[in-house]
Formats: sequence, C-alpha cells, structure tokens
Amino acid sequence: MTRAVKIDEMADLYETLGVDRGASQAEIKKAYRKLARQYHPDANPDNKDAEAKFKEISAAYDVLSDTEKRKQYDAGPQQFYGGGPGGAGFDASAFEEAFRRSGYGGAAGAGGFNIFDLFGGGGGAAYGAGRAMKGADLTYVLNLSFEDALRGVTTRIAVDKDVGCPACQGSGAAPGTSPSTCPQCGGRGVVSRNQGFFALSEPCPRCGGRGSVIETPCPRCGGSGIARATKKYTVKIPPGVKDGSKIRLKGKGQPAPQGGPPGDLYVKVKVAASQVFHRRGDDLLINVPVSFAEAALGAKVEVPTTDGSISLKIPKGTPNGKSFRVKGKGAPRLKGGGSGDLIVKVSITVPEKLNKEQTEALKRFAELSHDDPRAGLNAGQ
Ligand SMILES: [Zn+2]
Ligand SMILES: [Zn+2]
Repeated sequence: MTRAVKIDEMADLYETLGVDRGASQAEIKKAYRKLARQYHPDANPDNKDAEAKFKEISAAYDVLSDTEKRKQYDAGPQQFYGGGPGGAGFDASAFEEAFRRSGYGGAAGAGGFNIFDLFGGGGGAAYGAGRAMKGADLTYVLNLSFEDALRGVTTRIAVDKDVGCPACQGSGAAPGTSPSTCPQCGGRGVVSRNQGFFALSEPCPRCGGRGSVIETPCPRCGGSGIARATKKYTVKIPPGVKDGSKIRLKGKGQPAPQGGPPGDLYVKVKVAASQVFHRRGDDLLINVPVSFAEAALGAKVEVPTTDGSISLKIPKGTPNGKSFRVKGKGAPRLKGGGSGDLIVKVSITVPEKLNKEQTEALKRFAELSHDDPRAGLNAGQ
C-alpha cells in the first residue's frame, strides 16, 4: 500500500498518451513511442519537466500496453490504484521497466548507442521488448553494360562486411578465455538508482549494458568480436533491369550486434549509357538519319535493334522528326512479360557538299517546286 497513489493526483492514462479509450495496442505503442522520443531524458538533459513527463508517459504505457492491467484500469482506476486484492497495483518499477524496454541493459543492450537509434531513427532498428536489433543493411553497386542490363546476367559479387572474429568466435575474449559476468551489475546490464518515487535504471557503466566483461581481449579483434571479411554472393539480374534498381539479398547484410537478425544486402544496379539507344521505361528510342531523298521518295532502311537489325519502311513524304513504333523490340518487361517497343525517330540529313551533277539536279528540283515551305508563317501575320 505504500505505493498507492491518490486518484486526483493521477492524470487519466489515456489522456497522458493522447489516445482514445478504444485505442488499439498498436495505436498506444505508437503514441508512447512518439512521446517517449520527445520527452526522453537523453533528448532533454537537465530538464526536470521533461523528465517528469517522461515518467508519466512511461507509467501510463506500462499499464495500457499490458492487456490485463489495462482491463483492470478500465474497470475503475479506484480499484486499480487501490492495490487491493486482485488489483494490479501501480508499480513504481514502471519507469524502470520502460527504461529496460527502451533497450538499455539486459540482452537488448548493445552499449554505446543512443536512444534515437532504438526508436527507429536510423536504419530501421528494431525496437521493443524481446526484439533484438537488426544488423545494418549494406549496399553494393553493380555496374552493368547497357546490353547486359537488357539481357540479364548472373554474376558473382565480392562484398566486404563484418563477420564474427575467427580467432575468438565472436566472443571478443582471447582464445582460451571467455567473457565473465559483470561484477558491478551481476549480469543484468543495468544498475538501479533511487530517485524519489521511482527506482531509475541506468545502463551499467562497467559493462556498457552487455552484462559481461572481457578480462583479456582477443588480440586479433581487440575485444570487439568482429572481423572484416570478403564474402562472395551470386546475384541474378533479371533481363530488362533498369538503372538504379535495387535487388535485395535478404540477411546478407551486417550481422546484428547482439544475436538479432542480420541486415540485408542491396545490390544497386548502375547501367551504362548506350551510344545507340536511349531508354524510356520499357521502350527504347533510336535516332535514325535518312537523306532528304529517302524521306521524300520513301525508302527501306536498316535499323539496329538489341537483337539484330530490322528493315523499316519509311513512307514517301516522311517529315523530319517523325517517329515509328516497332512493337516488341524494346526492353524486356520485368513485370507482366513481353517487351516494350522500339521507337525509331527519323532525322533528315542535309548533304554538306554537292558535286556539279547533284547541284544541277537540285536546282532543277527547286525550279519545279511551287509550294512555299514558309506559307504557314505568313498565315499568322
Ligand atoms: Zn555490468
Ligand atoms: Zn576476436
């Protein structure tokens, strides 16, 4: 009964977290995380108001996140805080529990990180009781030729990453020795400090929250338990892959510091530009020069595609810049199968030099041409 709190001193727990009484567990967790991030002592050094608020939030979350305690609280705060038989009682260790939940100490502690990492600020770090942190993701840039990106390739890549130190099997202790239980915290990873109403838990200063200490560090890794190694992976690049695409190799990223799942390896594809083709989505664009005579009279022109060349009929009177679509000769589609189209854009070339005969022929052509090519400009005046 010493911990019983008078009701009128206690704000409504739902109000404290800013959620409705019908809020789901997920909503409660979300609200708590947002507030905890805002008022966490690490983010507000020497701010007593923030600290008090953080304690309040943590206490409210302790009750509302526990379905059993929440049910009792909903049944009537009187009964709940009264601590009578059957009541859960308001536990002064709520703050301590919240602190532990936030990742300090115990198995979840990795030492040296700050609270912002834990709240998912960076790299999608896992958060919450019983969930160890995920290892970091890695990115590997794979350079491909334009043709290989269209064809697809299977290739081996070599990635430098962290692995468990082979000398100490990742323990960090010199071979023949093993880490021992931390004498200061007895392996808990946290130490308690009484502060008024609450018992505060802090990460153990001796072991940094690991719960164990290394007397003789492994000479190879200096006690970190981590070594660098080059790992080889086979990556299958699908035909038609686009520049900047990422392929995920699940679990091939960095190992987790404390037995959590490893991160992922992202293979980022960088596709070289082509001298001939320009890619737009699944379509390929090609610029094909034709002579004035070919455009005027019509012609069959050879057009390269990514698999051999095709013969394209240019109808007579084709204007400069006209595009023709050749179905299915573009890039393979990653989804839905088939391929995009080849878009052939005609550009009319003008001869830089003419011999005497050609000059005569063109002069004759000009004499016979009666259409004014600039008629359209006068119409607008
Ligand atoms: Zn310790
Ligand atoms: Zn080692």
